[in-house]
Amino acid sequence: LPQEFIDAQPILKILEDAGFEAYFVGGAVRDMILNKPIHDVDIATSAFPEEVKSLFKKTVDTGIQHGTVMVLDHGAGYEVTTFRTESTYTDFRRPDKVKFVRSLEEDLKRRDFTINALAMNYSGSVIDLFDGLTDLKNRVVRAVGQAEGRFTEDALRMMRALRFSAQLGFDIEINTQQALQKLAPNLEKIAVERIRVEFEKLLMGSQAAKSLQIAIRDQVMSYLPGDMGSWDLSLVMADLTSSQAHSEQVAWVHLLARSNLNTKQMSHFMRIWKMSREDVKVVSLIVPIVRHITDSHVIELYQVYTYRDILLEVLHLIKVSDGMLRHVNRIFETLPISKSAELAINGADLIAMGLVAPGPEMGRTLRMTERAVVLGKIDNKYDALIAYIKESVT
Ligand code: ATP
Ligand code: MG
Repeated sequence: LPQEFIDAQPILKILEDAGFEAYFVGGAVRDMILNKPIHDVDIATSAFPEEVKSLFKKTVDTGIQHGTVMVLDHGAGYEVTTFRTESTYTDFRRPDKVKFVRSLEEDLKRRDFTINALAMNYSGSVIDLFDGLTDLKNRVVRAVGQAEGRFTEDALRMMRALRFSAQLGFDIEINTQQALQKLAPNLEKIAVERIRVEFEKLLMGSQAAKSLQIAIRDQVMSYLPGDMGSWDLSLVMADLTSSQAHSEQVAWVHLLARSNLNTKQMSHFMRIWKMSREDVKVVSLIVPIVRHITDSHVIELYQVYTYRDILLEVLHLIKVSDGMLRHVNRIFETLPISKSAELAINGADLIAMGLVAPGPEMGRTLRMTERAVVLGKIDNKYDALIAYIKESVT
C-alpha cells in the first residue's frame, strides 16, 4: 500500500475494533490504482458521527450535518464520513436530506462515477460493486446507475464528468455522454462557485483539450457562466494539447488572453464567474501584456515583476517565440530584486528606527520602496532606502 494509506490505517483499525466497518473511498483509491499521486485519503464508515467522535481524541466537526468528521492524527487530518444516502433533490443541486445508513453498498451507490465508487479495506482489498475497475482499465467515466437520473439529481456531476475526463484523459461512456448532452441546460441552476471549482480543474487537466472538445460537441459551453457558447476555443485547445496550466490563475489568464473579450467584457465575465479580487487583478494586469507582448517594446517592469511566473507560464502555453521568451527573461534578470524579501530593509528596521509605525502605513511604505527599487529609482542599499523613506514620510 502507498504510504498515505499506511499512515491512515490506524484510523480504520480503531473503527473496526469498535465493531464498525470502515474503508478508504473515493479519489484516493482511484488514483492509487492509476498509479497517480494521492491527495486526500477519505474514509467512509458505518459509525455515526457521534460514534466517530467518541472514538478519537481530537476531531473537528467539519461537515457534521452531512456526516463528516475530521479526525486529527499526528498532525494529519482525515475526513471520516458516515455511510449515507441522499434523497429528494428538488432543485437539481443538493440533496434535501442525507440519511445515515449502516451499509457500504448504499453509500457507494450514491457516488457519481464508477471509478469514484471503489472502496478499499484495511488490508488493501478493493470492493468494486459497479465495475469501476473495468472502467478504470478501459479509461471511461461512467455514471453509477442511470446517468440521466443521476444528472437530474445533481447537475454538477456533468461538470465533474468533464473534469475527470480532463484530468485522466478518459472518454465519457456513451449513456453518460448522452445524458450530459440532454441535461446540460440544468447547469444554469448550479451555484457559480461550485461550477468554477470543477471548471478550473478541467482547464488545468493534462487532457483539458480533449475535455473541451467534448464540452463543445455536447453544447455544454453555452450553459456555463459567462456564456462561452459562441467562443472560438480552437487556439486554447491547440495550446492545451501539448502543454498544461499549473494554476487557476494561469488557466484564466490563458483562456481570456485567447478570447475576443475587450477589457470591459472581461470584467463583466469575471464578475459573472465570481472570481476572487486577486484573480481579477492578475487577469486584468497580465492579459493585456500577453496580448501585446509581440509588438510592445516597453514592458511595465514593475507590473511584470510581481507576476513573473504566471506571465512566463502563459507565454509558454501560447508558444511565443524563443526569442521573445529570452527577451522577457532578460528583462527579469536586469531587475534589481526578484522578490520583496530581497529589499535591503524590512518593516522591523523601520519600526526600530521610529520611522514608520506598524499598521497600514507600513505596508504602503514598503510597497512604494519596493516599486522604486524595481523601477531603478533608488539603489537597493540600506542607507539609500532609509534616506528615500525619510524623505517621503516627511
Ligand atoms: P480529487 O482527487 O480531485 O479530490 P475526488 O474523486 O476525491 O477527486 P471529490 O470532489 O474530493 O473528488 O469527492 C470525493 C468523492 O465523493 C468522489 O470520489 C465521489 O465518490 C463523491 N462525490 C463527490 N461529489 C459528488 C457528487 N456531486 N455526486 C456524487 N458523488 C460525489
Ligand atoms: Mg477528493
